[in-house]
Amino acid sequence: MEINTQNQFDIVIVGAGAVGCAIARELSRYQLKVAVFEKESDVAAGTSGRNSAVVHAGFNNKPGSLMAKFCVEGNEGFESLCRELDVPYKKTGKLIVAFDESDFAGIDKLIENGKKNGVKGLEFISEGVVKKLRTPCWGNWSNAVPQYGNNKPLFVYGGSCRKCCTKWS
Ligand SMILES: Cc1cc2nc3c(=O)[nH]c(=O)nc-3n(C[C@H](O)[C@H](O)[C@H](O)COP(=O)(O)OP(=O)(O)OC[C@H]3O[C@@H](n4cnc5c(N)ncnc54)[C@H](O)[C@@H]3O)c2cc1C
Repeated sequence: MEINTQNQFDIVIVGAGAVGCAIARELSRYQLKVAVFEKESDVAAGTSGRNSAVVHAGFNNKPGSLMAKFCVEGNEGFESLCRELDVPYKKTGKLIVAFDESDFAGIDKLIENGKKNGVKGLEFISEGVVKKLRTPCWGNWSNAVPQYGNNKPLFVYGGSCRKCCTKWS
């Protein structure tokens, strides 16, 4: 990219990963001249574009931690964010499966932890229900986590930048 030295920016963000793109989008709501500099040829070329694409629900994060708070808040807002950015999002839900009774206590703990963090809809479901869901799981009892989602990181971060950029070079 040719940078015109006459260009003056109020804010320069270095790195167009998840964090840089989200900050740029937020700042686009204000009367500011913002530039995002990325050393690669596209957004999310690093970790952000190669992660597992999971929208974490927040049931296994330490209660009271910022990670727990942000997972729950981020998860709740993700669907509307994707709608706004016009990118696909699939709320798949998640099952944490116990293979035998010795795993029940661990599942109980996750449910308790998730409830402390404000995760909605956590449920202890039986083997019969798991089978009805027609998942490839063959475990015993499960913790069902309806909030779990899957996204396409490149679409989301690209969408964030494209929606707020006036110039894309
Ligand atoms: C294997 C793995 C799986 C993960 N799975 C998930 C998941 O499923 N769900 C989830 O929520 N999180 C997941 N994460 C975590 C998540 O991917 C990261 O927390 C997130 O991507 C970090 O974003 P970032 O913008 O801070 O950094 P990055 O994505 O690393 O972005 C930084 C950007 O800055 C650019 N840059 C660096 N130096 C310069 C420079 N000097 N000039 C210009 N540009 C520069 C880089 O090229 C890069 O594009 C996973 C992480 C890993 C490693």
